[in-house]
Amino acid sequence: MALKITCPHCGTEHRVKEPYPLPGAELHCQCGRTLAITYPKGLVARLRARGALFEHGKDDEDTDVFARAPHGPPPDEVPPPPPIDPTVPLRPPTR
Ligand SMILES: [Zn+2]
Repeated sequence: MALKITCPHCGTEHRVKEPYPLPGAELHCQCGRTLAITYPKGLVARLRARGALFEHGKDDEDTDVFARAPHGPPPDEVPPPPPIDPTVPLRPPTR
């Protein structure tokens, strides 16, 4: 589906098709202004859920452009082992 971006300066409608430009990408209008592409919050995620393609960097396919994680410590890779449940009765040895 094509998205419509209306120039706020002259009202010209620009149609953008897949692969959609990323938010912040620039679009040159016939009136000489440069428009910054913006999408309503959540739209990118919705479009991606439908399989829409976006222009993007080579290796960030799974990264939501609205939710770039700040640099921080990596999550624990190995979850801790489950605690031993002391309420489980030990089975008596069978003969
Ligand atoms: Zn314009």
